[in-house]
Amino acid sequence: MIRTVVCHKEGCCGNKFFIETIDNKIKATCRECGNEYLYDTGNDGYELLSTCESCKNDSFKLFRNINTNKTYAKCSECGNPPERIFVDPDGIQITYETKLIQEIKEQLHTIDQRLCNLNIKVEDIERGQSILEESLAYINKYILEDR
Ligand SMILES: [Zn+2]
Ligand SMILES: [Zn+2]
Repeated sequence: MIRTVVCHKEGCCGNKFFIETIDNKIKATCRECGNEYLYDTGNDGYELLSTCESCKNDSFKLFRNINTNKTYAKCSECGNPPERIFVDPDGIQITYETKLIQEIKEQLHTIDQRLCNLNIKVEDIERGQSILEESLAYINKYILEDR
């Protein structure tokens, strides 16, 4: 079940927030009263920036999945998610798109290696086959000569 996050401060029912990422959580600041909240995002390794990926607007509505206790943000103007960046193990920030391309490249590399391994196996089988054929030829010759 998804619930819209509304500011809890008495007398405030703001539902638009400024957001930033702190320690893998969304820090949301109510635009009406400035109250701050921390929510779990469940984001693996990426940080949310404070602006919409599409229209650069900086106010977001927050939605909370009651079942998983994860919160996500949608631009209050156009409904798109905030811009995301990844921080790689060297601390270098890369965009979501770059990260996707990197993952695809890694997968292609893995597929490439599997193909390579398969080729080696096929070569092994072919080599095995030719040894077998040589042995059979030898046995045939031996049997024939023995008669
Ligand atoms: Zn508020
Ligand atoms: Zn937007």
